[in-house]
Amino acid sequence: MRQLTATWSADGTHALIHRGEELLVSHPVTLSRRTHSWLKPSGNRKLETFGPAGIGVLNTARNGCMRGLVGCEKGEKACYAEDGILQSGCFAQTTAFAMIRWNSGFDITSNGYKPGTEDFFSLTLPKDDDYDLSMYRPRVFRCDSESSTSCLTLSLGTVQKWAASNPNKIFSTVCSGYFRVPAARLREAAACGNIVAGISLSSWVGLDDLRNRIAEARRYQKYDVPVVLWVATNQQWSDDNPEGWRIIERELRRYDPRQVIEVPYHTRAGHTQHILNLNPWGGCCQVGVDACGRQVDMNSGLRRDDGSLAEGKTSGACFGCKNACGASWLKVSQREVAVRIAS
Ligand code: SF4
Repeated sequence: MRQLTATWSADGTHALIHRGEELLVSHPVTLSRRTHSWLKPSGNRKLETFGPAGIGVLNTARNGCMRGLVGCEKGEKACYAEDGILQSGCFAQTTAFAMIRWNSGFDITSNGYKPGTEDFFSLTLPKDDDYDLSMYRPRVFRCDSESSTSCLTLSLGTVQKWAASNPNKIFSTVCSGYFRVPAARLREAAACGNIVAGISLSSWVGLDDLRNRIAEARRYQKYDVPVVLWVATNQQWSDDNPEGWRIIERELRRYDPRQVIEVPYHTRAGHTQHILNLNPWGGCCQVGVDACGRQVDMNSGLRRDDGSLAEGKTSGACFGCKNACGASWLKVSQREVAVRIAS
């Protein structure tokens, strides 16, 4: 596999995506006023259950992960896709946006560069350089929708721009490692002090892809960027790819357990169970809601108030999550660095 690079065109109107010397994509940036379609200060349906202030979402990049360009093993498939099951795969494949456009060729791995799918991918920045988010309540914002990778926006410096303009807020990213973020951009991100980089791992991806993600997580930390690992788990993937699972388990020993956010695989049909259970703060989607809106423990399927069985379909929620999408680890790591410097 070969990582991509992303830079701006000389006039700043297009993002240029290269593999080596070859220019693969020149994508226009849209300048937009605040609209709910890309700036969601109260988060999405799941994140808004987090608490009074919620977790906001900045959909700077969306609907294209460019995975199909890097030439990794299984790169032609959306992450977690199952053979023969059309609408399986990463969450981005099953959104309403994706469903409506399925017949027009929506394909998360290729949107943005394959003829006919360019329009699905979008890169939106605020008009008039208005990056101020102080009028919104959330302390934490997720950058980019789940359908894109933040190593693209970190490469372009847009996450850093949001962070530098809003020093009292925290910016959480999720990266695949498909874009190599230049050293200068990583230093810039570390200097902001309010960016936490998430790197996603799973034993579903090929070994080349997995090793690249692990190497990128280590490289980010070399530049002092706080990192959490979002580990997507599914017992079936580990059984199918024991070598990949061994690599993940070995790597996790290098990390503080609070840096490991386990995300059991889920589709619209339901969740698998947490199998790592390393993090004392719990995993992502450990709490859910049932069809009646009551909180349930997603591993046992039991209601949290009286221990009775959940009713109907359950879905993950963020009630009381102590990870706060990596923001808690950012704070803890900063405190630990401060103590080390002081002692
Ligand atoms: S880490 Fe916590 S706050 Fe973030 S999406 Fe998962 S459950 Fe919600």
